[in-house]
Amino acid sequence: MSLRLQYARPRDLDQTIGLLDGLSAGAMVIAGGQELMPHLNYGRISPSVFVDIGNLKELQGISATDEGISIGALTVHRDLQTNALINESLPLLAYAAAQIGGGRQVHNRGTIGGNIVAVHPLYDIIPALLVLEAQIEIVSAAGSRVSNLGDLLTDTSHQLGTHALLTRIVVPHPPQPHGWAYEKLKISDGCYASANAAAMVTLRPDGKLGAVRLTIGAVTEQTIDLTPALSDLVAEDPDADLNDTIAEVCKASIPEPLSDQQGHGEYRRAMASVVARRAVAAAVESARG
Ligand SMILES: Cc1cc2nc3c(=O)[nH]c(=O)nc-3n(C[C@H](O)[C@H](O)[C@H](O)COP(=O)(O)OP(=O)(O)OC[C@H]3O[C@@H](n4cnc5c(N)ncnc54)[C@H](O)[C@@H]3O)c2cc1C
Repeated sequence: MSLRLQYARPRDLDQTIGLLDGLSAGAMVIAGGQELMPHLNYGRISPSVFVDIGNLKELQGISATDEGISIGALTVHRDLQTNALINESLPLLAYAAAQIGGGRQVHNRGTIGGNIVAVHPLYDIIPALLVLEAQIEIVSAAGSRVSNLGDLLTDTSHQLGTHALLTRIVVPHPPQPHGWAYEKLKISDGCYASANAAAMVTLRPDGKLGAVRLTIGAVTEQTIDLTPALSDLVAEDPDADLNDTIAEVCKASIPEPLSDQQGHGEYRRAMASVVARRAVAAAVESARG
C-alpha cells in the first residue's frame, strides 16, 4: 500500500476534469467513501491521490426536465428516500434506496453515483434504474456524453472514477399510470441480497398487460434485464398463471449463478425465479392502484 496518499478537493467540474486528465495512473475519485474506505482499510486498493468530488455543485440536485428526472451523481441514498419529486415520480427508486444496508452512515454518505460506478452485483440501485431505463451523463477531458445505464455493464472502457466522472442520472418520465415492485431476499437482516428483482408494469385499458419490465440482481456478476425475454407477456391476462413463463425465462438467463456468503449458486438460481414472480405479481397489484 502507498504510504504517500495525496488528497485533492477541486472547486468545480472543470478543475476536476483538468486534474484527472493531468494525473497519472493511481488517481481515484472519491465521493461518499462508503465503497472506497472499506477497501482502503483492508488494503485492497492503494491510490496515489484521492480526488474528492464532494464540493462539485454540478453533481448535485434533483429536478424535473423535459428528458425526465435529473439526479445529480452526489445525491445520497437518504435523499433518494426522502425527496418529494423522487417519491412522486420514481417511487421504485426511493424504495430500492431504502433497502440498502449499512445503517445511517451509508445512507447519509453513500451516493447514487458511487453505487453505480462500483457496478457491484449485490447492490440495489442498478436493478431499479435499469427497469426505469435510466441514462447516465459521463464527462471527461474528451467531452460529455450520455449513454444508457445498461451499456455501463458491458463497456469497461469508460474510465469512470479515474479519468471520467459520472455527473448525472436521467430517468425518463415513466408511463402513467404504472405499477412497480422491488423484492430483496436476504438470508438475515444485515446481509446483502441473495436475489433481488425490480419490476414495472403497465395495464392496458382492457386490463391486459401492457409493458412488463423486469431485472434480476445479486444472482449473476451483472444485473440481468429480462424485459426483452418477457415480451410474450404483453396482452396477456395478468390474472393468468404467469409463473411458468417467468420461471423459464429466469432459468434460461442464469447459466452461471454466483456462489458466495449469500448462498450457493443453485439456491440463487431458484430464488431468482421466486423474487421475479413476486415482483411481477406485486407490480400488477400496484398498477391496479
Ligand atoms: C456496511 C455497508 C453496507 C452496504 N450495504 C449496501 C446494500 O445493501 N446495498 C447497496 O446497494 N449498497 C450497499 N453498500 C454500498 C454503498 O451503498 C455504495 O457503495 C455507496 O453508494 C457508494 O457510494 P460512495 O459515494 O460512498 O462511493 P465511493 O466509495 O466514494 O466510490 C465508489 C466508487 O465509485 C467511484 N465514484 C464515486 N462517485 C463517482 C462519480 N460521480 N463519477 C465517477 N466515479 C465515481 C469511485 O472512484 C469508486 O470507484 C454498503 C456499504 C457499506 C459500507
